[in-house]
Amino acid sequence: MIIKPKVRGFICTNAHPQGCAANVREQIEFVKQRGPVAGGPKNVLVVGASTGYGLASRITAAFGSQANTVGVFFEKPPTDKRTASAGYYNSAAFHAEAKQAGLYAASINGDAFSDACKQQTIELLQRDMGALDLVVYSLASPRRQDPRSGELYTSVLKPIGQSHTAKNLNTDTLKISDVTLEPASEEEIANTVKVMGGEDWELWMEALSAAGLLAPDCKTVAYTYLGDKLTWPIYGHATIGRAKEDLDRAAKAIRGKLGDGSAHVSVLKAVVTQSSSAIPIMPLYISLVYKVMKDEGTHEGCIEQLYRLFTEGLYSNKPRLDGDHRLRMDNLELRPETQARIEALWPEVTEDNLFQMTDFKGYTEDFLKLFGFGVDGVDYDADVSPVVEGVDFR
Ligand code: NAD
Repeated sequence: MIIKPKVRGFICTNAHPQGCAANVREQIEFVKQRGPVAGGPKNVLVVGASTGYGLASRITAAFGSQANTVGVFFEKPPTDKRTASAGYYNSAAFHAEAKQAGLYAASINGDAFSDACKQQTIELLQRDMGALDLVVYSLASPRRQDPRSGELYTSVLKPIGQSHTAKNLNTDTLKISDVTLEPASEEEIANTVKVMGGEDWELWMEALSAAGLLAPDCKTVAYTYLGDKLTWPIYGHATIGRAKEDLDRAAKAIRGKLGDGSAHVSVLKAVVTQSSSAIPIMPLYISLVYKVMKDEGTHEGCIEQLYRLFTEGLYSNKPRLDGDHRLRMDNLELRPETQARIEALWPEVTEDNLFQMTDFKGYTEDFLKLFGFGVDGVDYDADVSPVVEGVDFR
């Protein structure tokens, strides 16, 4: 089939297998160019390993540290008539590249929130890998079924306390208008914490520990975003921010149980991923971040951030920690002069000057690239099969 992007609002409903594979190879190449991560991990589990920051974590561990990796994700396989989701193709390509490099890689395509998926992962690790020295928790999901009660919780992206009106870009119509978001109810806040907070991370660590799968010096990390004034009302100080605060609580609780190991929340910068493109105001904010940081020469995507997290954070003797024990990789985005430039540009952006004042072009290119489109060297007029041969996800 000829595969062209089918974009619906903030999501693309198909993906290109060859484009996704090329993206994975590009990230691997980046890590190889930068060189090995000194003292890096050897046995790694990445929960949420197929796209965005989780995929970059897996690539950095494997190709920066020659690590064996197990990845867990929730992705749609292909049929003869329909493409798979991008994360499926990314992971198939990762497996192929790992195999060629002689690195162990296995993946479980299932619901990471469930007990069954945790059990399946444990059995796989016991059989094939042994104790872990790094567990990366990089899930981003709009809902979670509680494994004990069976109840389904849905998260919301809403302010807390009062309504918030903000400038928003509709990435379909390229119209900019004010959106007003009503404040979340207490129940909505609690549900968002249940989905995106630290409970499931703790359950993973407890299950792995009980199975004897954590090496004495095992590290674990979960990801968060803090942002600054522009994004606080909808992110940092909103429902999602509240859920992310719960990660700090979970990190502390996990640290208490890990002995010599360490548990950290790492603050990463805003980048285009399937999850961030669904958050109101983020597409416009990220377009401005791209503009300013590219001008400054400080622009980074997922793989640049993750390589720095490994070398300047997780495996550094002098990690950049804040007062809450978080590893800060958002230091360049949050430079006061960078934020000041973004804040000055923000009110000036209109539909007419969108492409001059912001890097919306770069944003759109990165968005399409997430699904394997617009990648150099890929022939998008070629007839390709949506089915990738030899995929061995469990
Ligand atoms: P993403 O959408 O690219 O990745 C989400 C991953 O979670 C995918 O691998 C997906 O398959 C997996 N997943 C979702 N539901 C699942 C389920 N039920 N079971 C198993 N796997 C499931 O998202 P991302 O932006 O890379 O986000 C990863 C983490 O990084 C999140 O905690 C997010 O808050 C954080 N973060 C993101 C940004 C950003 O700008 N994108 C910035 C800072 C921190």
